[in-house]
Amino acid sequence: MQVYPVKAFRDNYIWTINNETHAVVVDPGDSKPVIDFLRSKKLTLIAILITHHHPDHIGGIKNLLDQYDIPVYGPETEAIPGISHKLVEGDLVRLDQLSLTFKVLDIPGHTAGHIAYFDHQRLFCGDTLFSCGCGRIFEGSPPQMFRSIEKLTNLPDLTEVYCTHEYTLSNIKFARTVEPDNKDLEDYEKLVEHKLANKQISLPTSIGLEKLINPFLRYNEPTVIKAARTRSETPVSNEIEVFATIRAWKDNF
Ligand code: ZN
Ligand code: FE
Repeated sequence: MQVYPVKAFRDNYIWTINNETHAVVVDPGDSKPVIDFLRSKKLTLIAILITHHHPDHIGGIKNLLDQYDIPVYGPETEAIPGISHKLVEGDLVRLDQLSLTFKVLDIPGHTAGHIAYFDHQRLFCGDTLFSCGCGRIFEGSPPQMFRSIEKLTNLPDLTEVYCTHEYTLSNIKFARTVEPDNKDLEDYEKLVEHKLANKQISLPTSIGLEKLINPFLRYNEPTVIKAARTRSETPVSNEIEVFATIRAWKDNF
């Protein structure tokens, strides 16, 4: 089993999970790089998984369906052309040819119906969680996004997190503004700079690592609470307000 990042557009990763013969693809915003990858590895596509409705995550569905007669899984509450299986929290997606079963998590906030796929080892979280950052709140509210991020924070530390954009280094610049004395963050910045300079990608990350470096998961840390209190013009008295303050800060960074 391998998980491979097919690159698309400027900074998207279309994650492809495959064994020697079959593959499943997550959020194919574009079809061409996916088809090129499948052909080069002689893989048969068996399913498409969609996390949310933004064009850079669904743009390739139609062309892939022209070539493959396969199920397309996606959020029940978002209108996405091509979806055959509509999913809500707790649903299971069984992919027998790959011996994989994903559980669906509702994680609204970036979009109103955003979902994630979790198989107890790996998390495909679309644009909700990024390494050292989180998605912008386009359709939800800060408390809703907070609960979604909290849900992901509570997954096992060893969970591999497959984010869909290479935003890590710019996210680190912001995180260092929030927590200038976080040594783990300083080390992580060096590691990511080294990886990118050597044409590696920064992902996947893990829940355990993100809890050390990602200000959006660190709403209980005294350093992050203090930074939020200093930044905010209104009183910051709970986790949600810490999170909302950091999110609004990043929106204007
Ligand atoms: Zn998006
Ligand atoms: Fe995106």
